[in-house]
Amino acid sequence: MTAETVLYEGKAKKILATDSPEYIIQYFKDDATAFNAEKRAVIPGKGIVNNQISARVFSVLAEAGIPTHFVRTVSEREMMAKRVSIIPVEVVIRNRATGSLVARLGLEEGQVLNPPLIELFYKNDALGDPLITEDHIRLLKLADDAQIAEMKRLAQRVNAVLLPFFESRGLLLVDLKLEFGIANGQIVVADEISPDTCRLWDLQSGERLDKDRFRHDLGRVEEAYREVWRRVCA
Ligand code: UDP
Repeated sequence: MTAETVLYEGKAKKILATDSPEYIIQYFKDDATAFNAEKRAVIPGKGIVNNQISARVFSVLAEAGIPTHFVRTVSEREMMAKRVSIIPVEVVIRNRATGSLVARLGLEEGQVLNPPLIELFYKNDALGDPLITEDHIRLLKLADDAQIAEMKRLAQRVNAVLLPFFESRGLLLVDLKLEFGIANGQIVVADEISPDTCRLWDLQSGERLDKDRFRHDLGRVEEAYREVWRRVCA
């Protein structure tokens, strides 16, 4: 199966057609954006690392019986995935308070959230991906009640599987952002799961090993992505 036509180009990935209408290729770029694309850079090697970390994480989820769009990696920067219709809701699940949650509610940085907190955001760049309620989702007809419930249930399961997976590799899964797609009527985890979309802190030192190094100019950005790759994939 060869990749040809670009179906969609996002900030960190391109979606390419394959010769089957049921499958696409996700091509992972080195481009990084933050703060609704106001801040941009190239992080050399990020695409390779994120493709491989995502592939590993999706495989772990599949082994745990959680449906994902992932099929297989096809090159160091590319994975084949089922073609899905993306639900325009970003589901964030948090085990510790940081980032926008601290800014919004004034919680203490690093505060434990038990049970994990789920938040829903409208995936809409023009509006800056605002936090939304389930009533907003119904109003905008982004998903129906059963789909909202299923996304939240799957997010809890993903978190429950990935917390110990990362912990055994010396990483604290602080939070993660999930996107879901629909294929043949089934809701599956889609997009990517990588240091671009999760916060991962070193269990011992608390060092940030994720996109926050880029967002907040903490330095050693490439090294952090590579360190996660080493712990998860090597
Ligand atoms: N996140 C993401 N894409 C976004 C916004 C957030 O992948 O457009 C991830 C982010 O990396 C973190 C989690 O979702 O793992 C929660 O992010 P938060 O709401 O704290 O936003 P931020 O601090 O990045 O503005």
